[in-house]
Amino acid sequence: MAGWQSLKGQQLLKIGLGNLLARHRVSHAVLLTGPAGSGKRTWGRALAQALLCSERAGADPCLSCLSCRQFQSGNHPRFINLEPQGRQLKVQQIREVRPSFYLEGGNTVCLIQQAEKMTAVACSSLLKILEEPPPGLHFILLSAEPGRLFPTILSRCQRFTLLPLSNGEITELLLERTALSHEAAELIARLSGGLPGRALALAGDETFKERLAGAASLVRELARSGGNPRNWLTRAGELAEREDLVSLLELLHLCLRDALILSLCRRNDLLINPGNARLWEDLPASALLEEAVELVSATISDLLTTNVNRRLALESLFLLLQRRLSGCPG
Ligand SMILES: [Zn+2]
Repeated sequence: MAGWQSLKGQQLLKIGLGNLLARHRVSHAVLLTGPAGSGKRTWGRALAQALLCSERAGADPCLSCLSCRQFQSGNHPRFINLEPQGRQLKVQQIREVRPSFYLEGGNTVCLIQQAEKMTAVACSSLLKILEEPPPGLHFILLSAEPGRLFPTILSRCQRFTLLPLSNGEITELLLERTALSHEAAELIARLSGGLPGRALALAGDETFKERLAGAASLVRELARSGGNPRNWLTRAGELAEREDLVSLLELLHLCLRDALILSLCRRNDLLINPGNARLWEDLPASALLEEAVELVSATISDLLTTNVNRRLALESLFLLLQRRLSGCPG
């Protein structure tokens, strides 16, 4: 890992943590929050490495001292990683590593992943340590759901929130870390919602191209007027079985959103165009496209948050989409 200053985005976090590190004012407990895939672990580990570095001047770890080398090879004796075993992070896990919190000389860092999963007993054990923290001990708590942490823990933490990255920053990250083409990296950036973890997962997903082509062909079929509604009921049945249904619908959403922007702004540089096949012969009216985008987005939300019957949800989505995309209102 390079110095944490070279990580993408998060200017506020960089400045905030950078100042604390440079002034040796990092608290005994730091909390990093942000949704899954936002980079909490990457930033938590970068902060840990900086705190552990024995030659650090300023905020960045030196990357060459023994501590930095041990950290980078994944076996630093004073770096402790705790994560839930099963559904909970139990007090026993804290008890097992507690002796190393009291080693003398140098810093010790304990990274606690999914900190909201600590049991009440684990929390009170942690609080007890934080009441009289031994010198040089730092906890870095990571949580996507900080609202579930005990207020007594929250109040003892220096808290930082990871914000979504821009599409440009995600594209840059993908170009540095993967062999993707620029076009593919931009597309994934737009799908990632600003979450670098999600972008990298999509980039490593072998079936992504196939799904993208599938979404594009769905749009083409839906836009072809005069199709037989019965065919769509069959398609809905087939697609409802797919495990990657939501991500297929997200791609469909993206294709339709592009079409909407195209029809509103007369821009032609946005359309997803896999295999150079034209998606649209005639763009439907903007109002219809807007409705289509909303329909897909509502279906994705239903699939993610309710126990809706997948097949029925798709049947109704496709019938409504077909009417709009083939130019019939209502
Ligand atoms: Zn170092």
